[in-house]
Amino acid sequence: MYNWKIIGHKKQLELIENDIKSGSIAHAYLFTGPSGIGKFSIAKMFVNILQCPNNLCNKCSTCKQLQAGSHPDTIVIKNNKASIKIEQIRDVISRLQMTKQARYKILLIKSIEKLTPEAANSLLKILEEPPADTIIIMTTGNVREILPTIISRVRLIKFNAYSQNFLKEKLKPLYPDTDDQTMEQVCSLSMGKSGKAIKLLKDSNLLASYRTMYNILCEFLKDKPLHTKFKLVEEIIADDRDTKEFLEVFTHLVRSKLHKGLNTQSLTNNKKDYYLNLLSSLERTRVLLKHNINARLALESLILKAL
Ligand SMILES: [Zn+2]
Repeated sequence: MYNWKIIGHKKQLELIENDIKSGSIAHAYLFTGPSGIGKFSIAKMFVNILQCPNNLCNKCSTCKQLQAGSHPDTIVIKNNKASIKIEQIRDVISRLQMTKQARYKILLIKSIEKLTPEAANSLLKILEEPPADTIIIMTTGNVREILPTIISRVRLIKFNAYSQNFLKEKLKPLYPDTDDQTMEQVCSLSMGKSGKAIKLLKDSNLLASYRTMYNILCEFLKDKPLHTKFKLVEEIIADDRDTKEFLEVFTHLVRSKLHKGLNTQSLTNNKKDYYLNLLSSLERTRVLLKHNINARLALESLILKAL
């Protein structure tokens, strides 16, 4: 077993290691599963194992180049922009066709749900006829948005978020100075995503901001007079926080309230409908934001619906 420097995902790592050991590396891989659980880190390690002539030594020039992001035969697309455009894919495809020095030409793409339809079709052509010794490794947080024609041409490896208890168990020995209550909160706020949990443990400002957001939302979901709710709405909207994160935390909170209520049979039908409607509004807002709708407007309309 390689040292993947990652918590859990045992089954998935075994699948990858079996491909490496048996020499049956696929032309293309797609890692799916929620964001923030380590898919991209695993993909990068996989690339390193494949490219290092010494089976991942972390010392040779290849390993060093890969760590510095300057390896000539490894192309990484990992951008923060809303979409990955066809020009970028075309450029990459021509680079894949150049002669190589390493064992493989590898293309690593993060979040392929960001490919525009034209870019996806362009990528599809290379997946249909992959050049020799070329491997394409992709990740996505939303497999439902990926063309079935792409999925049918890759080796699909599904990753899952962890249960909060599993995460807590694994993180505790790594962060012995963190008190129980904080650890509990971190595991809950990170929704089983180890990457997110570690970020929160390392960054106390981020954790504080998450806690505040969570508390405001908890207040908001309680039965309160309208004028109190409006005040909370102002607080939520005035704070210029990351809208995507906000939606995630909100969705997580509503979902857990719904589950808890259903399990203990303590939910009235009205409340149940309220939570279910809220969840679909949240999902709609998430989709709207993906299409570059003004974040503030989308948020306002969501919150007003949730009153
Ligand atoms: Zn090496």
